[in-house]
Amino acid sequence: MDHQLIHRAAKDILHSKKTIAFTGAGISVESGIPDFRSAQGLWQKYDPEEYATIDAFHSNPDKVWRMLKEMFLLIMAAKPNPAHIGLAELERMGLLSSVITQNVDGLHQAAGNTNVIEFHGTHRTLSCLRCSTKIDGTSLTPESLPPRCSHCSSLLKPDVVFFGEAIPWKAQIMSAEESKSSTALLVIGTSAVVYPAATIPITAKEGGATVIEINMEPTPLTDQISDYLIRGSAGEIIPAIVEEVKKMKG
Ligand code: NAD
Ligand code: ZN
Repeated sequence: MDHQLIHRAAKDILHSKKTIAFTGAGISVESGIPDFRSAQGLWQKYDPEEYATIDAFHSNPDKVWRMLKEMFLLIMAAKPNPAHIGLAELERMGLLSSVITQNVDGLHQAAGNTNVIEFHGTHRTLSCLRCSTKIDGTSLTPESLPPRCSHCSSLLKPDVVFFGEAIPWKAQIMSAEESKSSTALLVIGTSAVVYPAATIPITAKEGGATVIEINMEPTPLTDQISDYLIRGSAGEIIPAIVEEVKKMKG
């Protein structure tokens, strides 16, 4: 971990009028939920391009639920890690106004962040595509998966955005507003290749924000959009930044 960059990030956060975070699957890896692109279990078995499309859900929901069930079980068992907890602490200190996340695991809210924009929806609620019935997914048990609609008995779909589905309009509007008005952006654990989510750092940069990237490896944003990359695990880097902020505030 590069201490000079930790210090630079803390300084940028303290000098920024409005700091926001944009997070991806990488921030939840240390909570036990594998990301897409690193070579790991779940997504080796289930190609998202094959399983996470809305067409696949319509034509073969049973097949898609084999993947969803494993994802659900991981999410049900997951707890916020020091990276999520550090972001919640920044919010409590008045230094983070929102978190725009591509994740669907609810871990930012579990950590205590109150202004979370879920760009790709959430696993916490499920809907019936036939009759629009909605249920709370947090009360589901592993034995009750996959859940069926109590009205028409169709297989329910978690309210996550599948490939081929639109981004929830409220999330689009709110994230555009947040990124335009930010003066610093923390981009954490995203490969920044899924569009339109990946436009968020570009919008922030165009508006003059300092873009601080935290990732295990460089991404297409590095050297193009990011002012600098702090390379390493989010679970180590975020708490280190929070500590440095506290030290500098005195
Ligand atoms: P991605 O899998 O494409 O990229 C993850 C990035 O995180 C990579 O750049 C990787 O280098 C980095 N990374 C991995 N471990 C890290 C760590 N400990 N600290 C810091 N960085 C780390 O993820 P994405 O860009 O979010 O795009 C994938 C899509 O899949 C998203 O739309 C998301 O909705 C979905 N997804 C969500 C979850 C979740 O909710 N937890 C999990 C898997 C996939
Ligand atoms: Zn129904």
